[in-house]
Amino acid sequence: MGLSTPSNALPGFRVGTGYDSHRFDAERPLVLGGVAIPDHPGLSGHSDADAVAHAVTDAILGAVAAGDIGTHFPPTDDRWKGADSIGLLRRAAEIVKERGYRVGNVDVTVVCESPKIGPRASAMARRLGDAIGVPPGSVSVKGKSNEGLGWIGRGEGIAVHAVAIVARISTPESAED
Ligand code: MG
Repeated sequence: MGLSTPSNALPGFRVGTGYDSHRFDAERPLVLGGVAIPDHPGLSGHSDADAVAHAVTDAILGAVAAGDIGTHFPPTDDRWKGADSIGLLRRAAEIVKERGYRVGNVDVTVVCESPKIGPRASAMARRLGDAIGVPPGSVSVKGKSNEGLGWIGRGEGIAVHAVAIVARISTPESAED
């Protein structure tokens, strides 16, 4: 037995998770998953504070062990001040490709009391899928309330969880796995 490859192994597949949270800031516009949501407080942050795009970015970077959004787009760098986070996600997808992988699908859960995610979920999936280079059907966006509990329940901010799977498309010269 020992360390031999199990019969159900999925060679060339890797999985990554992403998490992000941002506090509401009524002075800023709200953008989630690349979709502008008018008449709702925005989120504080250095970039456009798109917590959905940020969690997805961390999930796909994590899948190829390429650090996280802060590694590649540090908040100390003025280049990313007010940045369109969909553009950052697009760049992260390029990094995944450079490592020899492509994204299979992404699943996202947005936890907040407002705004309502459901009516905007398919628009977010289209924007996220376009940035990653996968069809909208390969991106799932779901909204959950926190049932009034804790800081999310008090409407202080938003939390986002994301998971992504990537598949190997080539072997990079420096591959160590
Ligand atoms: Mg963030």
